[in-house]
Amino acid sequence: MGQRSKEKDLKGVIPGVLRILRNFSPYIRKQRVLIAGSFLALLLETGLRLLEPWPLKYVFDYILIPAHSNSASVATIFGLNQMVLLALSALAIVSITGIGSMAAYLSTYGMSLAVVQVLSEVRGHVFHHLQHLSLSFHQEFKSGDLITRVTADIEKMRLVTIKTALPLFTNTISLVGMSAIMFWLNWELALVAIAIFPLLTLLTSKMISRIRSFAKQHRDSEGVLAATTGETIGAIKVVQVLSLQEMLHGIFAAQNQKSLDEAIESLKLSAALERTVQVLMAIIIAAVLWRGSHVVLHKGLTPGELLVFITYLKNAFEPMRKLSNQVGQIAKATASGERVVELLEYEPNVRDLPGAQKAHPFFGAVRFENVSFGYNTGGEILKDISFVARPGQLLAVVGPSGSGKSTLLSLILRLYDPQSGRIFIDGQDIREYTIDSLRQQISVVLQDSVLFAVSVRENIAYGKLGSSDKEVENAARLANAHEFIMKLPQGYDTILGERGGTLSGGQRQRVAIARAAIRQAPIVILDESTTGLDNASERNVNAALEKLTEERTTFVISHNLKTVQNADLILYVEGGSILEQGTHSELMRLGGHYATLYRLQSIVDDTSPQGDSYAIKA
Ligand code: ADP
Repeated sequence: MGQRSKEKDLKGVIPGVLRILRNFSPYIRKQRVLIAGSFLALLLETGLRLLEPWPLKYVFDYILIPAHSNSASVATIFGLNQMVLLALSALAIVSITGIGSMAAYLSTYGMSLAVVQVLSEVRGHVFHHLQHLSLSFHQEFKSGDLITRVTADIEKMRLVTIKTALPLFTNTISLVGMSAIMFWLNWELALVAIAIFPLLTLLTSKMISRIRSFAKQHRDSEGVLAATTGETIGAIKVVQVLSLQEMLHGIFAAQNQKSLDEAIESLKLSAALERTVQVLMAIIIAAVLWRGSHVVLHKGLTPGELLVFITYLKNAFEPMRKLSNQVGQIAKATASGERVVELLEYEPNVRDLPGAQKAHPFFGAVRFENVSFGYNTGGEILKDISFVARPGQLLAVVGPSGSGKSTLLSLILRLYDPQSGRIFIDGQDIREYTIDSLRQQISVVLQDSVLFAVSVRENIAYGKLGSSDKEVENAARLANAHEFIMKLPQGYDTILGERGGTLSGGQRQRVAIARAAIRQAPIVILDESTTGLDNASERNVNAALEKLTEERTTFVISHNLKTVQNADLILYVEGGSILEQGTHSELMRLGGHYATLYRLQSIVDDTSPQGDSYAIKA
């Protein structure tokens, strides 16, 4: 590792940092006054830091050394009496540090404030952006990964920028200043000092790379520990049923030990590095002192100046030593930053067209015209789909699993756009409406409705933001949900568990129906809304759905053909194509796929002990 990887880090960091700055620039620009002010404070701080050892020089050169050498001709400076000079030097030490600290406080606080404000705005923007990215994007990225980008990656940037990048920036400026003064004092001695630094880096780089590799192993082991813990807790029921506790504890203990060993090794190496560096540093200072004393003896430098020189050297050393670690940190934070930027650079591929108009209240006429569609993953999922649904009609989509039924209905919502063909609502291509105004007029009830971990009331009101309590209650009544909601501990104010976990499947579904009902949308989509429910719940939910869909154009996907017999139009879909379409009696007369499936289900239903609904799997 060592040199090579460091070069790679540095090279990789700069374009990354530029890319991040470019993307964040609107937010950075907003903080420009704060940034400029902090920068001025920083310059003041650095200037004062450079001045710090100088009072000592005057005390040495003009008071102490002349006194010791009993020199008759006391050198004076600025025509000052020795005592006055001493007093001024003492005062200077206090005021330089005092003012310097104040400037350092202002610059650190100001810069940090700017950083957190920029990042907080970026985070808000990323969250907003993520919600608008198309479903195809969300299917490509794992949710855990996205969560990490919004939380941990931004946090990493915040920490590293404040704790590493800003100090590095400050130190670099003061290093430049110190080197300039060192060259000005005595270029030859400055060259000696500067030549030694690369040597030091070379000597320590091997140790640093070993520490890094242990630290990496340690981090990996921590990841393994976290994964084992996560898996065990996640499957705790199975673990307890199978009595796997001791066995899993054995595995965990071994991993824990490995992580401990690596941590110890890395601590040991770090401590050794620190001591080694201290000794090397002493050697460098000795060398400069050796050479410097010769220069002083030949009057090339005053003793006080040599003191300043050596103080600078010591001050310069600490930041230099941290440099490689800092570059590593910054490289990591840059990687985090790029992960965030990557999201921002994604454009939603389903978005409002330039001339898109807010939709008028729909009548609910829906027409597909030669629609074909495939997911990014390749392969055509829907082929040349055409059909017409008139306002208020019930349209059923049936067919084997995986034939493309859900995909077909998701196109009406513009969750995806077709690759070819067009979809019309009330005679206008749906891409000519704004997405929000289109989706607001469509209610959807899915098979496994997701409820949020907020109150029942809010869950229902999410269907139409800003709705009144009365509207919520009416929607709940329509969904046959009012009664059971009133029996919950806090009625409508009961907070639901994660993913609505505190309700039964049928109850969740009825809350979801209430959420759909509150929209009073002219178009309703039911995607296997009753699959997986027991008979009693299914009847309850069906009754609610009937009320929900009354006089609205309704699309329903169902595996139970009996429930869709009354549909005005049935589409039989297989392999992404509509093989048959018509009413139940028309399709039965046709005697094709639909009729076969229907008869098959009837036989199964008749011989089944429960004899109710069945899911036909392809
Ligand atoms: P159905 O509703 O009839 O069961 P779907 O519309 O869910 O069928 O799926 C149709 C086909 O599209 C299936 O082969 C499925 O694997 C595929 N598919 C569904 N969703 C996606 C997706 N987000 N990305 C890629 N392929 C998908």
